[in-house]
Amino acid sequence: MSHGYEAELKTAVEAVKRASIICRTVQSTITDEALEKKDLSPVTVADYASQAVICKALRDAFPDDQIVAEEDARELREDENSAFRAQILKEIQATGTEATEESVLKWIDFGNHDGSAERYWTLDPIDGTKGFLRKEQFAISLALIENGVIQVAALACPNLSARDAWDNAQGVVLSAVKGNGAQLNPLDLDGVTPHTVRVSSTKSKSAARMCESVESGHSSHDWSSRVREQLNSSADSVRLDSQAKYAVVARGEADVYLRLPVRANYQEKIWDHAGGVLVVEEAGGTVTDVDGKPLDFSQGATLKSNRGVVVTNGLLHDDVIKAIQAAE
Ligand code: AMP
Ligand code: MG
Repeated sequence: MSHGYEAELKTAVEAVKRASIICRTVQSTITDEALEKKDLSPVTVADYASQAVICKALRDAFPDDQIVAEEDARELREDENSAFRAQILKEIQATGTEATEESVLKWIDFGNHDGSAERYWTLDPIDGTKGFLRKEQFAISLALIENGVIQVAALACPNLSARDAWDNAQGVVLSAVKGNGAQLNPLDLDGVTPHTVRVSSTKSKSAARMCESVESGHSSHDWSSRVREQLNSSADSVRLDSQAKYAVVARGEADVYLRLPVRANYQEKIWDHAGGVLVVEEAGGTVTDVDGKPLDFSQGATLKSNRGVVVTNGLLHDDVIKAIQAAE
């Protein structure tokens, strides 16, 4: 590794693993009744607890680093949220981390940076909250950005199978350092050698397997079905929540991930993409916006110079961009 980034990678992978354990524990407590009532408390607890432990780990290792994370502790400090504070503290302490309510609030607020520093981390403590509540896919996404370049990524997908690589293992962390490829680590096994991951080798448009968001409010399903027609693809397409979509493209299980804007003024958030983008690029794939422009991570907390996101195995990229434009 040129600059190294060994310490950053190790810290990032360990931090998302620790947060994954909390998220899985909380997810396992969700009942059908809570789901019916649309009770958001499990995701609230796991979201804040995940952000707290990851921000603490980053600051312990890199005291000068800034963090742009999705949540802040303002609402959590309000009196009416004392039960949430107690629950979050309990989940963190259960992992063996010493903490108080005050320290937890402080760790969450480490994530308040706006993305103007030369070097900062960006974190989505639970990406795909709807998938988390449905007990389906969600992700914990962490990336280090320096001067607009993503250098390190750790993307935990606690509900993606690792069975193809490790018998009976559930949950993976995909990690990458720029220029050094992408790796698949099992979530629950320590001391095993990570596997290198590669995107698919699908060249034919008609064989292109696509994935997209479950939520039609996050990515236009109508537009993507027209793209599929343009490509003349007869392959199955899948819907799944969170940056697990980047993971399945990086692992070669899908060839294309489309995020096609539903409305013109939505700006994609950097924490919804940075981790996934580096993992896919280092696995040999290509990521641009719908106009074929590279994603610009030098604009603060959002991708304000881009429109939507298009992820492919690289081989299909030009064909997919043409199809998107023809289908708009
Ligand atoms: P997904 O799991 O792919 O549906 O993506 C979840 C992410 O979509 C959330 O973390 C939100 O930040 C993001 N999101 C919210 N509203 C929109 C929107 N209108 N367009 C695109 N993404 C959105
Ligand atoms: Mg998100």
